Amino acid sequence: MDMTLRILGRDERYRGVVRVQVPGIYPKGSPLPAHMARLVEPAAEALARVYQEIVAEGGHLYISDMFRSAEMQQKAHEDWKAGRKTAYSPPACGSVHESGRAIDIDAFDTGIGHKRVREILNRHGWVNIVATLTGPECWHYEFREERWERYRKEHGYAAMARAMKEEIGNVAGRETAESTEAEVKWLQEALNRILGLALKVDGVYGAATKKAVKEFQKKYHLQVDGVAGPITKRRIREVLEEA
Ligand SMILES: [Zn+2]
Repeated sequence: MDMTLRILGRDERYRGVVRVQVPGIYPKGSPLPAHMARLVEPAAEALARVYQEIVAEGGHLYISDMFRSAEMQQKAHEDWKAGRKTAYSPPACGSVHESGRAIDIDAFDTGIGHKRVREILNRHGWVNIVATLTGPECWHYEFREERWERYRKEHGYAAMARAMKEEIGNVAGRETAESTEAEVKWLQEALNRILGLALKVDGVYGAATKKAVKEFQKKYHLQVDGVAGPITKRRIREVLEEA
């Protein structure tokens, strides 16, 4: 199959987004499924140049993930919360994958080494989010451009991801995200009070919050899974009332 990236045309559902054809891993070498194969136009153009260089050097690049719907993102987050997935996934509206600006590559099969592939990606504006070449999320790259880099420095990563998504007119999952965020803030405040912690009350169910939930569950003899389900939440409300 074609080992480069081809821009197929506009995606009518989102602003400034194009459909692409790109080597995927389902199975390896076949085109990435169409529902995932979408990027904002400048990101697609930059990635096409990345492909040209990699192929010119005798390498290859397989993509395992690109565009994700809010539902897919939420599902990934639920899997992480429940421990079915080890790498952290933010909830809906918290991932750059939802704005057509992120890719996950097969970092371990490139023909020319991940280090070289990273150099090429970086040179074309695709930035890595972890410094290492192996380990969780080493495969994740995003296309931020100058203005989103500035936005991130000013407002933080979660706000950047959300604003990027709004920019392409992708509002799916926004209500869920807002109610989830409010719920998580309540949870973080409650855990801080009950356990005397200093969790950042940011509405993001991240690793620290998950750890605190486990601590609460252990202390109150509940199933220790780090998931704040109905039983855990009911117990938290009871403890707060008793206090
Ligand atoms: Zn990713």
